[in-house]
Amino acid sequence: MRLILLGPPGAGKGTQASLLTARYSIPQLSTGDMLRAAVAQQTEVGKRAKAVMDAGQLVSDEIVNQIVSERIDAEDCRNGFILDGYPRTVPQAHALKDMLAQKGQPLDAVIELKVDENALVSRMENRVAETLANGGTVRSDDNVEAFRKRLAEYREKTAPLSEHYAKTGDLKQLNGMASVDEVSKAIEEILASK
Ligand code: ADP
Repeated sequence: MRLILLGPPGAGKGTQASLLTARYSIPQLSTGDMLRAAVAQQTEVGKRAKAVMDAGQLVSDEIVNQIVSERIDAEDCRNGFILDGYPRTVPQAHALKDMLAQKGQPLDAVIELKVDENALVSRMENRVAETLANGGTVRSDDNVEAFRKRLAEYREKTAPLSEHYAKTGDLKQLNGMASVDEVSKAIEEILASK
């Protein structure tokens, strides 16, 4: 099962990806997590990405395409994967198509979580409060200013992917404002018909 989860920051992609990982035994490939790991390890990629990420902007297509291409060659992706946070631009979608064609691994579905943008800032603030309450470290881009920039980047560069995947016939849209359980059931129904 090879899936893309689409939706703005705070839409619940990460939550749903974790549930899908457990259900289908396929890994969640979050480019955000991979980039944060590169930043923490101070790799060359991490050094180039840090300031861009902290400002809520997008890391270059070249960097993320490379990271994803290498990651999906790993043994644990043999039965599929869930892409969370990639592709994020139309050129990334084209790059993904080419890399999957080269590897002989077609996509099964693109699932978009549709959410009311007004809810997103408060979801992010809740995530920060929960992280702090659990003694965790808050992401350096989880503050209102960077978050608003992330939303603006989403609107400008990522939202056009809906149209792109509608044209390819892969897109399924869901109401991401429903409960976690309801969204999860709706995703399962879509995947059951695959
Ligand atoms: P969000 O919670 O906003 O969905 P992520 O954890 O997916 O955040 O990503 C955090 C940051 O990492 C983004 O704001 C961006 O700077 C960078 N990033 C992640 N994925 C990509 C991508 N596919 N293309 C460009 N930048 C990316």
